[in-house]
Amino acid sequence: MLILPHKTACLYCFLSSCETVYAPPVIGTTPGVIGVMQANEALKFLLNIKGIPPGVLILWDGITVTLEKCAVERDLACPVCGDECTAFK
Ligand SMILES: [Zn+2]
Repeated sequence: MLILPHKTACLYCFLSSCETVYAPPVIGTTPGVIGVMQANEALKFLLNIKGIPPGVLILWDGITVTLEKCAVERDLACPVCGDECTAFK
């Protein structure tokens, strides 16, 4: 997920919206796949190439090799990115 401070949800917004955080076991190739996808999204942002909108979380299932997208809403009262927080402004 591309996070734009004070414009999109942050990681805290995402994690605090989850009832439970499920961290399934991963095989060794997973960090490589996710890292390449993150680098690709960062390059598209830096080169101003339109791609997946900011604030949309991409979930990759390495077992079924499928991608799923879901929008993550920014919490305006978030202690990290909320309107009251001045960090990264
Ligand atoms: Zn936040």
